[in-house]
Amino acid sequence: MNHSTGGQRFSRRQFGAAAAGAAAIPAVLAPPSQAQPSTPIPDKLPFDGPIEYAGAAVKPKAEPFPMTQVRITGGPLHDAQDWNRGYMSRLAADRLLYNFRQNAGLDVKGATPLGGWETPADGTRASELRGHFTGHFLSASALLYASAGDQAAKAKADYMVDELAKVQTRLGGGYLSAFPMELFDRLDALSGKPRPVDPATGRADPHAPHLPWAPFYTIHKILAGMIDMYQLAQNRQALAVAQGMADWADRWSASKSEAHMQEILNTEFGGMAEALYNLSVLDGNPQWAKAGDRFTKKRFVNPLALRRDELRGLHVNTHIPQAIAAARRYEISGDTRFHDVADYFWHEVAGARSYVTEGTSNGETWNVEPRRMAVELRTTRGTATAECCCSYNMLKLTRHLFGWTGDPRYFDYYERALFNHRLGTIYPEKGYTQYYLSLVSGTWKTFNTEDGSFWCCTGTGVEEYAKLNDSIYWRDADGLYVNLFIPSELNWEEKGLQLRQETGFPSQQSTALVVTAAPPAPIAFRLRVPSWLRTAPTVTLNGRALGATAAPGGYLSISRVWKAGDRIAMELPMHLTAEAMPDDPSLQAFLYGPLVLAADLGAEGLTENRIFGDSAPRFMPPGQVREDAPGVHHSAVPAIEVPRFRAAAGDVSSWIQPADAPLTFRTAGQAKDVTLAPLNSIFGRRYAVYWEVT
Ligand SMILES: [Zn+2]
Repeated sequence: MNHSTGGQRFSRRQFGAAAAGAAAIPAVLAPPSQAQPSTPIPDKLPFDGPIEYAGAAVKPKAEPFPMTQVRITGGPLHDAQDWNRGYMSRLAADRLLYNFRQNAGLDVKGATPLGGWETPADGTRASELRGHFTGHFLSASALLYASAGDQAAKAKADYMVDELAKVQTRLGGGYLSAFPMELFDRLDALSGKPRPVDPATGRADPHAPHLPWAPFYTIHKILAGMIDMYQLAQNRQALAVAQGMADWADRWSASKSEAHMQEILNTEFGGMAEALYNLSVLDGNPQWAKAGDRFTKKRFVNPLALRRDELRGLHVNTHIPQAIAAARRYEISGDTRFHDVADYFWHEVAGARSYVTEGTSNGETWNVEPRRMAVELRTTRGTATAECCCSYNMLKLTRHLFGWTGDPRYFDYYERALFNHRLGTIYPEKGYTQYYLSLVSGTWKTFNTEDGSFWCCTGTGVEEYAKLNDSIYWRDADGLYVNLFIPSELNWEEKGLQLRQETGFPSQQSTALVVTAAPPAPIAFRLRVPSWLRTAPTVTLNGRALGATAAPGGYLSISRVWKAGDRIAMELPMHLTAEAMPDDPSLQAFLYGPLVLAADLGAEGLTENRIFGDSAPRFMPPGQVREDAPGVHHSAVPAIEVPRFRAAAGDVSSWIQPADAPLTFRTAGQAKDVTLAPLNSIFGRRYAVYWEVT
């Protein structure tokens, strides 16, 4: 979550464009579209001139099943869902409404305000982002209702929608926010203007009016929350609230010249365009899509449409939502410029700017040229690699691209991000989530507190773990796709097909589908054969080996008239692999199947308040102490010595061998041997993912 103005309690240091450097990333899906074009930049850029919206929906190749038809029945993702649900249930509705009511001059009903990025305007340190988490919470509640049938979550969110509608009425009927319009006035007045310089210091004058933090970013969360409450929780009042908000955003943006609107878009604005496109489809009003088009940041999309990576220096999570918006815009209009933006962006980020966990960003920024990830990691200023919001949004974007193509390799990426960067960044039982999943050796995982953090990633966190069932099964006219190995049930009501997936994956290296009801007509089952398998897997149908199988990276398709009791089982044998940074073969990470392994380096210096914290981790060099930094600051504790490995290139299993516990390994013959376990299982311990292997 970018804060470009600085000087306040919630600000974080901005990185300038940093480090020049070396090379690259190991994503699973070989990018089809990475090559830099040799053609010169044309005189007229793809998005020059006004953008004309004309609705013409593109038919997808595959669609996800509605979450209401899929249930996760057990396993680690079910645990994560429950922990998140517990955290959400502990946050009182009136606390989440406090800032909105206060902004509208309504009674706050004796509620205690929240802290962190939700700090109210009672004192002098109000957060300019206040209200953002409440928007996420509405989305998460709607998702939880759809994914788990959680009636209590729906009832609480219904109450919040009703109360927020009163706030909206009080504020004039359109604008709905927990902060006053003054932030938008400042956004309008100061965008495109240089910040006044203090002649005494020669630096930006800290007392001069500054751009607000990110007002449209916050409005987007609330708008999306209302849309989700309508779409997933059938709350019609939420649709009316969303339409009022969209009407306000339409009028506000239409009152600016296009050139000035482009200046305004230099302040983070989240997924405004995506939400407006979605609303346009839901209520059939093209005006919202036209308003959404005003949130097209041409400086960002033009190079992408030309398949040029000019991402260096950009704030990462400001821009992933813009690629999602482009994907959505393509789907509702068929405009291939937007397709190319989303498609190229995904391949570039996944293929050239991601770590082994599929996480991306470093201090929230891309600091280097593509395929220079070893340099990116080594020049980390502090420990703040791989912001969790980025993974949340990249998973969203991946769903769009899979829907267009049905290419199973998108789920190699999805699976690796899900099992390493999402599972494992929620704290057991408490349900607290992370801001960054650090990949700096010797660091540890840090988490939000109960009611004093509310980072951007706390917001995307409550959404993520409320929708873990949304991508397991997909469908087209011929049948279904099984993309993830998660114990679950599917009820394809329209076809009369029901099935159960039985697996202890990833602890168990196999999965099975059991049909529990079936129609008397053929249906294709397409089982994803992950790219991390070495060979085509053994598959059995009702205990007998199938003649057919499929190579890793494809689908095994079985079409037949199914009957209740049919059981397909697929072996998923995992192997140990090393994955080097392409720009530095000596910098390696290790995986077991899709699971990123990390070495347990002990718990030296780790106290409760270093694991749970209220303020964001600062971007401090490792080992540097900052006395005024409370809570979660990796860097406030001296760095520890991290062992190096000496090993011959080649067979990893010659010096990393299975240990006694499941999914656990032990190095052999090193100066200091270590135990490796899945990164997603490590909490309250220092760890290392990347190693110098010489
Ligand atoms: Zn975030």
